[in-house]
Amino acid sequence: MDGARVSKVSNFVTVSFTILTDSVSQTHTDQKVLAIVNCDENHDNVKKCFGPLFDEINELSSAGVITVGEESYNIEIMVGGDMKFIQLLLGLNGSIGTYACPWCKVAKDNRGDMTFPEGYYHTLEMLRTIQEISDLASTGKSGKQSFGVTGKPLLNIEPIRYVPDELHLLMRITDVLLRNLIDDARSKDEYGRLTGQSCDNLDILVKAIQSCGLTFKIWNAKNGDLDWTSLSGNDKKTLLRELPDKLFFCLHEDTRDRVVSLWKEFSAIYSALCSGEGAEILFETTCQFIQNFIQIGQLKRHGYHPSNVTPYMHVLAYHVPFFVKRYGGLSKFSGQGVEKTNDVIKQVHQMRSSKSDPTTDALLVRKRIEVSSAVTRKPRQYTKQNDSYWCSGIKSRRDAKRWKFFEEMKQVDDAYHGKQNEIVPDTMSVIEIKDKLAKLGVRTKLRKKEKLLQLLRDVSV
Ligand SMILES: [Zn+2]
Repeated sequence: MDGARVSKVSNFVTVSFTILTDSVSQTHTDQKVLAIVNCDENHDNVKKCFGPLFDEINELSSAGVITVGEESYNIEIMVGGDMKFIQLLLGLNGSIGTYACPWCKVAKDNRGDMTFPEGYYHTLEMLRTIQEISDLASTGKSGKQSFGVTGKPLLNIEPIRYVPDELHLLMRITDVLLRNLIDDARSKDEYGRLTGQSCDNLDILVKAIQSCGLTFKIWNAKNGDLDWTSLSGNDKKTLLRELPDKLFFCLHEDTRDRVVSLWKEFSAIYSALCSGEGAEILFETTCQFIQNFIQIGQLKRHGYHPSNVTPYMHVLAYHVPFFVKRYGGLSKFSGQGVEKTNDVIKQVHQMRSSKSDPTTDALLVRKRIEVSSAVTRKPRQYTKQNDSYWCSGIKSRRDAKRWKFFEEMKQVDDAYHGKQNEIVPDTMSVIEIKDKLAKLGVRTKLRKKEKLLQLLRDVSV
């Protein structure tokens, strides 16, 4: 489940499902989209719009079995999404609250304390349950007594069945690491201005990031703070791989080595949590990572204090190792497929000129992709032979292929609406349209011809 801003005014919330397998990571064509709603992501909207779907999911989850034809299958439903969505589904407040963790009742002040043993936040006392969240929501307690509960959970699925998403862990934790790098270079520049030393450290950092092959800029925002290009998941992976070795000149000398090794540690942790390799030592490694992060703050570097340990970092240390041990690498639960689905939905929305029923359009195009992916051939083994092709040729070929794909999607979409226009031509009068709607059993209070036409087209095809 995820939300995506498709334009300045529209936000689409998408619910999709996929059948998990052990060996393969999920792509966006494995996802079956169940619903798309154009609404802001908040508890009330999601509860209202997805209520009937959630009822079915709850029914299925409590039955624990599904019958297809004559066969019955035991099922276990897992839920994925970014932290904001998980909090929303569980009826919890957002990440700035004192009790922000969806899985446990860690208080904000304790997030930077790494002395608690592995499993501490999974004890009966600390772990959240649906029963406890529902009880807290019913009693209407507020403040610290509510443990961040603001409403009833929308799904009857235990928090332990919600899996942390590797993509958002990567994105949000590298956000913190990158912001601290920028602060580090900027403060070195300020020190340089006072002492007559070099003050182009921020420029060196920007060039180092660009030399990883990324489009990246920093500028002064209207509020006087610095702002910078937001990077995608793939960009962040490139940064983790290539940037640490390029940070030699632009950071404060006394903490430079610690910062570089912090980046490398996170890179190794990210690989381990995706693949599941080294699960038995993952807790020690993640705890050490947070401790090293805080130590840099003790050496007077800004942004590395215990209060800067975010809910995502707490989840990395105290919950991710549990999930990796139980289910193996988290890449099979990855939100990357959902993000890709969102990209496609966004493209469809922006290409379509008529926005009268955008969520239906998006769902229809999405269904066409799912149907066509079912007949896609399996890729065959290939040994790379032509180096120049694999360096540059493939990029332009993939760009061309991508555009061809969107062009084909547009044609299918246009043909669909062309068919609608053929059955219901623009020349029909309002009375004729209303007559036809009445014959189809559709009652409406609409009066504008344009809206009536669209309604008739929607019910006619
Ligand atoms: Zn927690």
